[in-house]
Amino acid sequence: MKSKTGGKTKTSRQSQADARLKDLSKLLARSRQEVLARVRVLRKEEQDDAVELPADGLDVARSLEDIETDAGLIERYEFQLKAIDAALSRLERGRYGICEKCKEEIPLERLKAVPFAAYCIDCQKTRNEGRRPGEGDVDEPSRHVWTPPEELKESVEK
Ligand SMILES: [Zn+2]
Repeated sequence: MKSKTGGKTKTSRQSQADARLKDLSKLLARSRQEVLARVRVLRKEEQDDAVELPADGLDVARSLEDIETDAGLIERYEFQLKAIDAALSRLERGRYGICEKCKEEIPLERLKAVPFAAYCIDCQKTRNEGRRPGEGDVDEPSRHVWTPPEELKESVEK
């Protein structure tokens, strides 16, 4: 009496994985469009700011501040775009959703929160901390910490 469920399970698991990839590619495409739209708006604002030359010194300082903030945001969104494109190319090669470091499957929950994640949470943590276990607790601040602009800080922290 041999069960035939073995083969069946394999097939349904395969289609489950396909469905997962399909969902995730949609998710990626959507966040790519969102980020792209934001960069476009910011770029346009930046251009407008640059064209309008303020009359007095105080305005110049203010407007420079604005431009700097926008540039920081654009940089961040462009970084996200790069990450999304990298994720899309991993998707094409069938390597999307697999941690680049430990080669384990990245949990769906994490991919939904960060669709372009290239690492599982554990590996990302290790990377963020930037130190290897056993090397001692040198508390070196990460060079890649992003400082949010003032108006974002307000909406995030309050
Ligand atoms: Zn990992």
